[in-house]
Amino acid sequence: MSESIQLTLAGEARMVAFGRLLADACQGYGTVYLQGNLGAGKTTLCRGVMRGFGYEGAVKSPTYTLVEPYEMEQASVYHFDLYRLGDPEELDFLGVRDYFDSPSLCLIEWPDRGKGFLPAADIILSIEYLPEARIVTVDPQTGHGRAICKTIADRQGMLAEEVC
Ligand code: ADP
Ligand code: MG
Repeated sequence: MSESIQLTLAGEARMVAFGRLLADACQGYGTVYLQGNLGAGKTTLCRGVMRGFGYEGAVKSPTYTLVEPYEMEQASVYHFDLYRLGDPEELDFLGVRDYFDSPSLCLIEWPDRGKGFLPAADIILSIEYLPEARIVTVDPQTGHGRAICKTIADRQGMLAEEVC
């Protein structure tokens, strides 16, 4: 039985709205792997998550620093982009274990590159590219992931209705 859900999101504003919904659904903690090619919309989704927690500043892919921490009132979010990670062991030198120990939300772009040095995913989000939309598959891996997925499934109607 597959518990995963799929959403078709037409336009950047809907991706941001989906990120807001994810922020709500995760209750401020968990590990989210973001799969998808360059330009799929992973960072856009992360921006939506930060907006959901009330952060209005810039959210860019932390390509050279690999991780960007966002300490917000409602949550601590660590946004990883491991595209340029040479060796997964480098993650230890960055001291990321401290991030994984605290109750925080980790959003991880290119998680395959950090294999063996990352916490297990609660959900895996895979983004497929269409010319003017994206198909997002939400695949839960844990009990917390299933709860997140259920909240998204229950409230996905708002993504179609949202004025974008
Ligand atoms: P990634 O981090 O995966 O490389 P970005 O988040 O930088 O990708 O997004 C790349 C582009 O995709 C941006 O121009 C963004 O506006 C666009 N985009 C994101 N989500 C959607 C969507 N649902 N529909 C159409 N375009 C989108
Ligand atoms: Mg990115």
